[in-house]
Amino acid sequence: MTGIIGRLAPSPTGYLHVGHARSFLLAWWHVRSRGGRIVLRIEDLDRARAKPELVDTCLRDLEWLGIDWDGPPTYQSNDLQPYEEALASLVVSGGAYACTCSRKEIEVAQSAPHKGGELRYAGTCRGRYASVRAAERLADRAVGLRLRVSSAPLDLDDGVRGPHSTDVHRDVGDFLLARRDRTFAYQLAVVVDDARAAVTEVLRGDDLLSSTARQWHLQRALDLPHPRWYHVPLVVDPAGRRLAKRDRDLALASLRAAGVDPRRLVFWAARTAGQAVSEELSAPELLRTFDLKGLPEGPVPFGPDEQSYFRGAVPLKDPLPPPATGSGRSP
Ligand code: GLU
Ligand code: ZN
Repeated sequence: MTGIIGRLAPSPTGYLHVGHARSFLLAWWHVRSRGGRIVLRIEDLDRARAKPELVDTCLRDLEWLGIDWDGPPTYQSNDLQPYEEALASLVVSGGAYACTCSRKEIEVAQSAPHKGGELRYAGTCRGRYASVRAAERLADRAVGLRLRVSSAPLDLDDGVRGPHSTDVHRDVGDFLLARRDRTFAYQLAVVVDDARAAVTEVLRGDDLLSSTARQWHLQRALDLPHPRWYHVPLVVDPAGRRLAKRDRDLALASLRAAGVDPRRLVFWAARTAGQAVSEELSAPELLRTFDLKGLPEGPVPFGPDEQSYFRGAVPLKDPLPPPATGSGRSP
């Protein structure tokens, strides 16, 4: 046992697609190749968007790829108490405070439209109410809760992206942990869940890179350890856009139903991750040689050529030179 614990955290809001397959394979290879444990967490807190009937498909998809996990999958929606407890402790410590602002008020309060469309919270309710109760009484309804974020920029060292600096205070301000409708924010849930499962490393798509500093601040406020983060480039369509969960053709369930050999996805995922492997290997067979160091920078385009390869029509347009075949090659 190495003490390494990784996790897979799919959201059952749509079918898993080839991009998820690649991120999950990379996460699994990275942890398992070093003797670590893997936990599987179903991120189904978002009741409006989660579709319970998709969970089974998602588990089958992972198994089809050759991915396994330790212990039964956990479901966020099964037990809300840990999130409540984390919030309560933050309120007691002064790390979180009540916010009664509407979206409109937040828009008006921010001085300039923010890059990336994300609203920056100006801190309007910081120090405004004596307590959460007082805020509720004055507002006459449930209130949101926000984390009080210190204003210093944070330097993190990502296992894939390297050193990067983020200023949460400047970019998003005191961010939401629980909304006025009493639903828990993703940032809170992920931090509480990773800590509960004693996760030591998080490998996921780099669309979540910008959330990492928020999670770091929240871990510090809750006195929880920080995992090591690895953010891998996303798979994109030929026009460079991120893949949509809606596109049926890219869904693992469709490929599975069409009789696609999962080793083709495995080979594609491995080659686009810079691994010197030959075709026809299953995911576990790659564990012996997997090394994240080979991972190329930049997004991974996925289009009709890759689709045809999966369906067995054409060879993979290999993103890398052919793998070295060992000794004995003539120069
Ligand atoms: N459930 C999230 C997603 O599917 C992943 C959360 C995470 O890895 O932190 O995008
Ligand atoms: Zn407010």
